[in-house]
Amino acid sequence: MRARVLSIGDELLDGSSADTNSSWIAARLVEHGIQVLGIQVVPDVVEDIVDAMSVSVSDADLLIVTGGLGPTPDDVTREAMAVAMGCELVQNPEATSWVAQCLRERGLEPTEGQLSMGCCPAAAAWAPNSAGTAPILHGAVEEAHVWILPGPPREMRMGWHEQVAPSLHVDAASRLWHGHVYSHGLIEAEAADRLGELLDRTNDTVLGTRMSHGIFIVSITAAEERAGRVVQEEV
Ligand code: AMP
Ligand code: MG
Repeated sequence: MRARVLSIGDELLDGSSADTNSSWIAARLVEHGIQVLGIQVVPDVVEDIVDAMSVSVSDADLLIVTGGLGPTPDDVTREAMAVAMGCELVQNPEATSWVAQCLRERGLEPTEGQLSMGCCPAAAAWAPNSAGTAPILHGAVEEAHVWILPGPPREMRMGWHEQVAPSLHVDAASRLWHGHVYSHGLIEAEAADRLGELLDRTNDTVLGTRMSHGIFIVSITAAEERAGRVVQEEV
């Protein structure tokens, strides 16, 4: 299975906020044996989000999007998803009453903006967000399954654990295996020289290398565990 990650938000593009959601999601995808083809940050602009979604689903089976699900006019991800799905954005009665109930439980009378969070693409499904008030959305864009999670990291993580992760069924044969080898006392160039042909980018099992805090780290991505373990031993 191949996935892409989109982070939506102007604040992620002007340096005022760091995109931590993408790396967290990428790590979870890799834990599930899913290959991450790319991560992209997109502004709060409907056309840009639609374009990014369309390009993403051309080669990915799964697209995880975060951000732009709030109650303000710059939160346009719902609208973009409707365009990408080729359907109308409609006020979903169940999602809207769920939003209203969440707010009333917090002692707040819902505003019109907040109730707009109950709008869903007609062809999408929604799921409750147990850490906030913006419903999670998911549905098919072409052949891919697209999840839209809230931007706030706590809500995003909760949505992942409660909604996305339980829905992922990666069959054993297509799960990628990831492993690492750590060593110290070597400079990067010397360590790479010792690995020789193991670092050939055309090998079936591809290795990545990096230095972190004086430790030389080799990361291994293999089509299956046995092949990965063989290379891990050789490293
Ligand atoms: P939004 O869902 O777009 O209303 O996002 C609400 C807040 O979530 C933003 O102001 C950020 O603080 C945070 N946020 C949104 N996207 C990300 C992201 N990719 N990484 C980390 N924080 C984010
Ligand atoms: Mg935003």
